[in-house]
Amino acid sequence: MEDKIPKYRIFDVHNTATNRAKSSVLIIYTGGTIGMEHDASGTLVPLNFNHIVKRVPPLKTLDIKLTVISFSAPLDSSNVTIAEWQDLAFIIHENRQRYDGFVVLHGTDTMSFTASAISFMLRGLNKPIIFTGAQLPISAIRSDARPNLVTALEIAAAKVNGVPRVPEVCVYFDYQLMRGNRTYKKRSSQFAAFGCDNYPILAKAGISISYNEAQIMAYQPEAKLDYRDRFCNDVIIIKIFPSLKETALRHLLATPGLQGVVMETYGSGNAPTQRWFLDCLSEAVGRGIIIYNVSQLTGGIVVQGRYETSKYLEEIGVVSGSDISREAAIVKLMFLLGNETDRTLIKQKLRASLSGELSALK
Ligand code: ASP
Repeated sequence: MEDKIPKYRIFDVHNTATNRAKSSVLIIYTGGTIGMEHDASGTLVPLNFNHIVKRVPPLKTLDIKLTVISFSAPLDSSNVTIAEWQDLAFIIHENRQRYDGFVVLHGTDTMSFTASAISFMLRGLNKPIIFTGAQLPISAIRSDARPNLVTALEIAAAKVNGVPRVPEVCVYFDYQLMRGNRTYKKRSSQFAAFGCDNYPILAKAGISISYNEAQIMAYQPEAKLDYRDRFCNDVIIIKIFPSLKETALRHLLATPGLQGVVMETYGSGNAPTQRWFLDCLSEAVGRGIIIYNVSQLTGGIVVQGRYETSKYLEEIGVVSGSDISREAAIVKLMFLLGNETDRTLIKQKLRASLSGELSALK
């Protein structure tokens, strides 16, 4: 039987924003701890958006026109897949003319992956898409949900001379605004859940919000929107560790249909130089598999050739990921494999910045 449940629900927040309100923001609620409550057995489960509005009185008084689209079945972000990235990008794309900015409420576990995906899927949108969530449910007295949500809304609505102040995909969390595809989740039990080691913080919220103008993507009036929603998940992540076994590596690289690998290496992109290891990688590259070299360090920068232990990777044809995060790397590989067929072009694009996710090496 056909599933009759609509995928989304849309409703207006009846706040005091006047018809002359300077900005309009679409909130997209996907789930996450922010909207969860304990069920009878004490487990946290996602609830619908109505109860968030009730718990955040400032939403009623902000002079921003607010509309909410809620996933009909809000989810724990550990269950997010390509389908949810596609739904989210579709909603933003459909509503791109109607709103000045977007706030996405999302679980923290995979927020950095989704923010990366959206930054690649909607290049050239030129509008703020601010992801936020919370470490404690909004119903908890000490929850971080209220300040996260209210400031994310202010940032999404902010304009200078009629132009959005932050025309890019960001994560706002614990008083810091970060480029979304540069973030990673670093803590599960403190309010400062996200790190962003390889790119400066875009704004800090204190008594006022102080923007780091020089690091924020410039608004580009001429930019053309390049909306793409395909991904290929014939990819894996392999993390190098001392004494990794040849049989294990060979087995992984023989995964049926495999097209791409994010290889997490030491430090500045170093890996063992044993013959069997290099042969394994070289054979995989020879079979058309793309190997993307990313540092295991959250603040690492891959420079193939700095050490002998990375020089051979360059020679084999492993692609350097520079200072890209592990999260952005796997999403970017999936995105490029889903949208391009020319392997040479994919490798070129992996080395370059598509949406500010890496610093291209000279
Ligand atoms: N498991 C939750 C999620 O990612 C954690 C959170 O939201 O903080 O949906």
